[in-house]
Amino acid sequence: MKRRMFLKGAAAAGAAVGIGFDMSRARAEMRQFKIARTTETRSICPYCAVACGVIIHTLGDKAKNVRPTVVHVEGDPDAPTNRGTLCPKGATLKYDIDNPNRILTPKVRRPGSDHWEEISWDEAVQGIARHIKSTRDRTFVAKNAKGQTVNRTPGLAVVGGCTDTNEFNFLQWKFISALGVAYRDSQARV
Ligand code: SF4
Repeated sequence: MKRRMFLKGAAAAGAAVGIGFDMSRARAEMRQFKIARTTETRSICPYCAVACGVIIHTLGDKAKNVRPTVVHVEGDPDAPTNRGTLCPKGATLKYDIDNPNRILTPKVRRPGSDHWEEISWDEAVQGIARHIKSTRDRTFVAKNAKGQTVNRTPGLAVVGGCTDTNEFNFLQWKFISALGVAYRDSQARV
């Protein structure tokens, strides 16, 4: 007899003789122990434009030689969009966070190169700033064919992400307007 069949049989026998062999209570206890000593971090599911709120449970006492481990991710009951629920994709987030293939540092593939190279965040920010400046200098249009002032930069486009906050998007829109970026979209439309 297999373990699952044994448990089913035991539960049925318990119910038959009226001793209250209730497996759901045992499972609930296990779940409580799993997150009992974790740190809760609130975040947003990055997969789609619904932007569901999540709580990430991390185990680890923050000592120097201890690597924090994500042991559970669940829907945030206080998030207005999902109220504690997650779709099947969002429910797998733990395996995205804890994935050996996850990219943790910026990378660049230089012109003519056949491979990606790891770079520091400072190098990445400086490189992006340099490309924005040179692209704007090359493609900026002050007036259109009718002589009307347009001040736009058709060489740049910006797409917002679903995990961006309203405050970030407000600042981003101000910034790209100052650069003259006319082509802009949001992941919310994807
Ligand atoms: S949990 Fe599902 S519906 Fe919610 S943001 Fe993630 S992918 Fe989208």
